Amino acid sequence: MMYKVFLVKYAEIAIKGKNRFLFEDALVRQIGYALQNVEGSFFVHRMQGRIFVEAEGNYDAQEVVEALTHVFGITGICPAVTVDDEGFEALTRHILDYLDQVYPDKNLTFKVKSRRANKQYPMESMELSAALGEKILEAYPQMKVDVHHPQVTLNVEVREKISFYSDETVGPGGMPVGTNGSGMLLLSGGIDSPVAGYMIAKRGVGIKATYFHAPPYTSERAKQKVLDLAKQMAVYTGPIDLRIVNFTDIQLAIYEKCPHAELTIIMRRYMMRLAEHFAEEEGCLGLITGESIGQVASQTMQSLAATNEVCRMPVYRPLIGFDKQEIVELSQKIGTYETSILPYEDCCTIFVAKHPVTKPNPAVIRRSEEKLSDVIDGLMEEAISTAETVHVTA
Ligand code: ATP
Ligand code: MG
Repeated sequence: MMYKVFLVKYAEIAIKGKNRFLFEDALVRQIGYALQNVEGSFFVHRMQGRIFVEAEGNYDAQEVVEALTHVFGITGICPAVTVDDEGFEALTRHILDYLDQVYPDKNLTFKVKSRRANKQYPMESMELSAALGEKILEAYPQMKVDVHHPQVTLNVEVREKISFYSDETVGPGGMPVGTNGSGMLLLSGGIDSPVAGYMIAKRGVGIKATYFHAPPYTSERAKQKVLDLAKQMAVYTGPIDLRIVNFTDIQLAIYEKCPHAELTIIMRRYMMRLAEHFAEEEGCLGLITGESIGQVASQTMQSLAATNEVCRMPVYRPLIGFDKQEIVELSQKIGTYETSILPYEDCCTIFVAKHPVTKPNPAVIRRSEEKLSDVIDGLMEEAISTAETVHVTA
């Protein structure tokens, strides 16, 4: 196995001062998590603005890189070779061997880019690059130098040991999950909410989730679909505690007592209230939904205002300005799309009115909700006390 080390790059801009340690600790933890299901053993450590993943055992380098592309905070992943500093001649030999293995066809343009983090090293960066470039040209005369648009950039980083690499896979960017508190995602079986969770997690927020189902109107398969989506999201977010709430009796009460044109809005308001309850219990700092302005009747500006009214916590709606096609593309990219489009019914689709209000007046909605006043407290308590929590891992 040529690559025993994977050099991980991350953006340093957001991480001045003591935040830097939080950022790096979280990154190391998330890298460990992402590598849990990858064959091989891995040792993650950090050194001078880089994180190194050392690999042992029977691992597949491509699989390691792939797993690391799921870790927010990483900007680049470079499979690298690390050697002891045994002088310039030895380094040259290692590099020539490396180039020979990775690029059997030497008809290439290249440049050498050195970075000397160890200032004790006897050669300066430019000097080292030039000297190595010369040796490469001597050994492989077919290779040509191109400093502006080389096909191969050989990066050499000098620390206590010397690492070199010539391949970099772009990471997902963002911030490591766990550096920005946590949020409660309202996760349905649709296309939007997993993408919304992904986007907020990308900013370093840990994800918890709540799913409302309505048995027997919604099936076990619909619930399994949400569990599957949570599992797919967990590849990026880390483990997700998913609350599964039985919403049937609340929905039936709304259906029985409230104007049918207002069903969806009233239902959404109770979902938000319950999700906020669980969010508080879990110490979350906000709610997250997959809403986008105008997507459906319950997502007009008026409907969103009426839904928002019942929440004390901030509600994060990262898809608010996205068109459906843009959301679909993101869900394809993160791998939730195929599951999201499976045709199982959702609890919202069963109790829908033919002509839902599109401009609900909050005062009217509040009055309609009063019709539930003798039953709703008991039903909410029942929904809370019977909720099941599943710890979902990738
Ligand atoms: P999705 O937005 O996930 O594609 P959808 O388009 O059917 O589902 P709506 O029914 O309009 O969405 O709901 C808007 C948002 O409300 C969802 O993005 C999700 O955050 C939340 N939500 C809807 N139904 C449920 C549910 N059964 N359980 C949890 N959250 C839900
Ligand atoms: Mg939607």
